[in-house]
Amino acid sequence: MDLILEVKNLYKYYPGVKAVDDVSFDIPRGTCFGLLGPNGAGKTTTIEVIEGIQKPDRGTILYKGKPRDQHFKQEVGIQLQHTELQQYLTVKEILLTFRNLYARRATMNELVSLCYLEEILDRDNRKISGGQKQRLLLAIALANDPELLFLDEPTTGLDPQARRHVWDIVKSIKKKGKTIILTTHYMEEAQTLCDIVAIMDRGKIIAMDSPINLLNQHCRGVTITLPSEVDENILRQMSCDWYKVNHTIEIHTEQPHNCLRILIDNDIDITGMVVRSQNLEDLFLKLTGTQLRA
Ligand code: ATP
Repeated sequence: MDLILEVKNLYKYYPGVKAVDDVSFDIPRGTCFGLLGPNGAGKTTTIEVIEGIQKPDRGTILYKGKPRDQHFKQEVGIQLQHTELQQYLTVKEILLTFRNLYARRATMNELVSLCYLEEILDRDNRKISGGQKQRLLLAIALANDPELLFLDEPTTGLDPQARRHVWDIVKSIKKKGKTIILTTHYMEEAQTLCDIVAIMDRGKIIAMDSPINLLNQHCRGVTITLPSEVDENILRQMSCDWYKVNHTIEIHTEQPHNCLRILIDNDIDITGMVVRSQNLEDLFLKLTGTQLRA
């Protein structure tokens, strides 16, 4: 297999925190690899170590089969979680500035059309919307026509339309054969964009595969959502996982008929009940639990 990145036994400790604790994975060229996990799981630290922004305590990182060298910085694109841009420059001036940092460059036309920037090219970069700023940051990350693109929570804080615009851009980048490493808290985003997802928790990868294989392995049942709370003694009779989510109850079960029988036998009002097949969000909750994290 043509692997663009190999990460072996990576460790990064902060005082009192095992942020990255023996993480290994391979990324085949041309795939979108998603790193998921609760707050504080170690996603950003992992990708910052791979990007070269932070030094690992231990571990090996190979890019195209070799240790990273000066080519790595020229050939990768990075969209950080937070970026401050130079004041008073227009969107066009920002793009030109970043393009000039590299020997290898995407054309301005490519960047502008791929990231839908035509209408804001002459606007001061401080006077653009959140969605437009994310698209500009994506264009900056693409300025050197990278082979490997890092996107750290590219749609956090965006409205649903702006998020879908970013997804369209990521899909177009994938079609060009580029490799993408993406961190996200949006399970729908991971399911839509990623070929492989790794779920991290407390510095370790606890599951890794294609979304469909992960669901087949871990979530073969259905999710029943009840619009109001139910006595916990009744829920315990079902012998399955259940969660309180925003004043509703989510029941994860491979035996929906058994759960329904218990609800009806206990005279629970099932008006408004929803039954659906399980998705990546259900898997995420199942593997990482619902406790609040750092
Ligand atoms: P989020 O989804 O909230 O961005 P994350 O999965 O990206 O979280 P990291 O930011 O990598 O997680 O943090 C992993 C752990 O390391 C956390 O417990 C965090 O508090 C800790 N940490 C991160 N950066 C530092 C630092 N510079 N010094 C000390 N601890 C840190």
